[in-house]
Amino acid sequence: MRKPYDVLIIGAGPAGLSLARSLADLPINVVVVERSSEETLATPPEDGREIALTHQSVEIMKKCGAWQRLPNEDISPIESAKIFDGSSSYSLDFDNQNHDLDALGYLVPNHKIRQAYYEELTSHPQIEIRTETVVEEVHTDDGGGSVTLSNGEKLEAKLIVAADTRFSEMRRKMGLSATMKDFSRCAIVCRMEHQHSHKKTAFECFHYGRTTAILPMNGNRSSIVITVNSRDAQRFANMDESEFNQNIEEQLDGLLGDMKLIGKRHVYPLVAVHANQFVSRRFALVGDAAVGMHPVTAHGFNLGLKGQASLSKKIAQAILENEDIASDALLKAYETELMRTTRVIYHGTNMVVGLFTNETLAAKLARKATLRLANNIDPIKQLITQSLTEKEQKGVLNNNPLSKLKGIFQLALSKHLP
Ligand SMILES: Cc1cc2nc3c(=O)[nH]c(=O)nc-3n(C[C@H](O)[C@H](O)[C@H](O)COP(=O)(O)OP(=O)(O)OC[C@H]3O[C@@H](n4cnc5c(N)ncnc54)[C@H](O)[C@@H]3O)c2cc1C
Repeated sequence: MRKPYDVLIIGAGPAGLSLARSLADLPINVVVVERSSEETLATPPEDGREIALTHQSVEIMKKCGAWQRLPNEDISPIESAKIFDGSSSYSLDFDNQNHDLDALGYLVPNHKIRQAYYEELTSHPQIEIRTETVVEEVHTDDGGGSVTLSNGEKLEAKLIVAADTRFSEMRRKMGLSATMKDFSRCAIVCRMEHQHSHKKTAFECFHYGRTTAILPMNGNRSSIVITVNSRDAQRFANMDESEFNQNIEEQLDGLLGDMKLIGKRHVYPLVAVHANQFVSRRFALVGDAAVGMHPVTAHGFNLGLKGQASLSKKIAQAILENEDIASDALLKAYETELMRTTRVIYHGTNMVVGLFTNETLAAKLARKATLRLANNIDPIKQLITQSLTEKEQKGVLNNNPLSKLKGIFQLALSKHLP
């Protein structure tokens, strides 16, 4: 039998690939096992997801060289954001004029992020990537971990990491429970060209029963995210193109002039998942397998990047100190650190979704009040901007009591609506 690996990663989505890249600089043997083909990893198909990245995520990607591999034309800065409630013209506005930021965040297509990380890994051939292989079984004990592949082969490693989507089979097989919330809503995402400029502004339009988000891409193009009850999703996805164009134009009340669909429409059922534990003996969850967010606050991959950065840093430290890279203490420290961030964001996001999908008069009034409150109290606005960019703003104390409101006001991060 071959020598055990140090780390075995299940899943080469953006989370698994970014972890593999972070570990590539360390003197350890790493293998990634992925269901898809090598061709799909090298040239992933467009999937309609435009990922809003925070400044901190950009820093993580820059540090390992993945950011530099993104084509410039695929990086769209978001300079401001406006949130509308119902048909009211009142909006909650964010911009970066008063802050030392060149943009609130950056929009990058998901498939380009995956491609950039895969390219990075091909320049680190010591990282083994096994494609068109499914991990079927997983087992760990005090001595190490092992997995059984679909071809019957068994691989061993000191640490097994599952990055196998929010519906993680490995999480289930390892007996780690998770909290799930099915919103019974779907996001229909697509790209559209339009007559007028978006001026690098993201728009959120909370209409009753349906919401529409516009995420500015370079040129007169935007990513459009329509969120509707699941029973209506296929109607929007299959709608005749000219009818769809007109529907969006009307929904936006002519904000961007004539609208024209470019490319495919993609449908994503909205289900949020938070694992109750992120680790077990010689086993860890990263990416959506740990926390799969509702996209309303654009946190999913940002949290995935944060998690993998934390885990790889702890592994690097253990190597430096000649310690076990999968000790209970190391894994527990990873879990505690990540959970501190994810719990607040996960529940805060679900609260925002609740507030903006609830059609009762009380909820409608609450959201009008929320927008006005957030607009008129500067520290709140700064906290929201800080949360969006993950950069601290001048004059805002970290332990400001208002930070408790942060979860609620993370709606400002929203790029997709409930
Ligand atoms: C509409 C939409 C918009 C979003 N917008 C944002 C945003 O603006 N900002 C943001 O930060 N996040 C956003 N997200 C979230 C982001 O897309 C996810 O967090 C991220 O893609 C998760 O990556 P992952 O690697 O954890 O999982 P995945 O991308 O799901 O990858 C998992 C991989 O594991 C493989 N796999 C699974 N099981 C096995 C197995 N048993 N054996 C081998 N391989 C296996 C799969 O083939 C797959 O390649 C959005 C999501 C959606 C749906």
